[in-house]
Amino acid sequence: MKFQDYRISPEIKKSLEKLEFKKPTDIQFKAIPPILNGEDVLAIAQTGTGKTAAFAIPIIHLINERKKGTRKKGIKCLVMAPTHELAIQIAGVFEQIGQHTRVKVYALYGGTEQDPQILKLAEGIDVLVTTPGRLFDLRSQGHLNLDEANILVLDEADHMLDLGFYKDIEDVIRFLPRGRQTLFFSATINDNIKKLAYSLVRNPIRIQVSPKDPVSKNITHSLIFVEMDDKRFFLERAIKENPEKKILVFVRTKVRCERVSAAMKRVDLDTLTIHSDKDQQKRSEVMRLFKSGEQKVLIATDISARGIDIPNVDMVLNYDMPDVPENYVHRIGRTGRGKEKGMAFSFCSKDEMPYLQAIEEYTGYQIDQLVIDDVNYDQTLAVSSEKESITMKQIRKEIAIADNFQKKKRKKKKKK
Ligand code: AMP
Repeated sequence: MKFQDYRISPEIKKSLEKLEFKKPTDIQFKAIPPILNGEDVLAIAQTGTGKTAAFAIPIIHLINERKKGTRKKGIKCLVMAPTHELAIQIAGVFEQIGQHTRVKVYALYGGTEQDPQILKLAEGIDVLVTTPGRLFDLRSQGHLNLDEANILVLDEADHMLDLGFYKDIEDVIRFLPRGRQTLFFSATINDNIKKLAYSLVRNPIRIQVSPKDPVSKNITHSLIFVEMDDKRFFLERAIKENPEKKILVFVRTKVRCERVSAAMKRVDLDTLTIHSDKDQQKRSEVMRLFKSGEQKVLIATDISARGIDIPNVDMVLNYDMPDVPENYVHRIGRTGRGKEKGMAFSFCSKDEMPYLQAIEEYTGYQIDQLVIDDVNYDQTLAVSSEKESITMKQIRKEIAIADNFQKKKRKKKKKK
């Protein structure tokens, strides 16, 4: 959806065009409609995601529409920010987006003379962007009326709490109308932030976006907690349940490549392997078979798979978690190439938790976990053909022993 298709004032569309904002960013896509609907929003979003415009666009629209109907003066929206610089920056975004509207914006902060600020406020301001300190000074002197401030934005709330503004925020709320709309933005979330957030918002729309996600949007990737010794059963199940899919399996070492392949062989699943111990001719043949789709499953190490472009990989399976976080992105980036959709699953054992942590630090967010309940987990092990073949082997062995026993018995009888 493009900004041109939004239900926002043409004046705003004009400035967005000038700014070359054609399509909304993720946070804008998620936040603009509920804000336009008057709902409270609780958003976890970092700088760089386009979060400022995510609240500035709908707020300017709402105020611009309201202004058309009434000439009422007074601050209609209060934006609180932790620092002067941020207040100036936010006011700048409001000014750019509202440049063709009648919405007036002002950044108010301490450390400068009060008189020009008092004059500016007297002219009539619609959106006041401020740090807490100067707001209290001017209000206590009677220069600031927040009775009409029906929209409150708290930007970088986590940063505000770090700076010790908890009490100030609580105090400001008392100056604002009760039935206001509150938009709460924070880059991170913890118990303290939650406490503050839920004391301010009512039935909020919750939004979370990832900062500059290094993983393509075309790839759905998730995590399954699996014991190291059980991984082969889960791989077997994944292959058997997806017979038509081209699956690329990653393991950490060459030795594990062959071991995993052998484990699949035991359950009658043919797989290809590629690693640096194979000669070039063999590797080329393996790649040909996998690329053409004649063979559906390839087990590879990181190094061997670097830089090779394999079309139409439907699924990437991290049999072992990568020990270098960047490799996680490289590995799963083998699926969902171009416009295709792709999926990836990672088997993570207890011992591999530190690798997972490093990966999540690198991606900047928690990877979705596919929760497998105990019943389902046990079932995966139970339905394995390996169990079957072990049993069969056992039976065959027992038959063989029994046969031998019979033969020996017969021989003894003959001798007699
Ligand atoms: P912010 O997260 O608000 O600091 O914004 C980060 C950067 O993204 C700023 O330089 C904005 O100008 C830019 N930006 C915000 N929204 C859009 C959009 N829809 N299209 C292109 N750039 C954008």
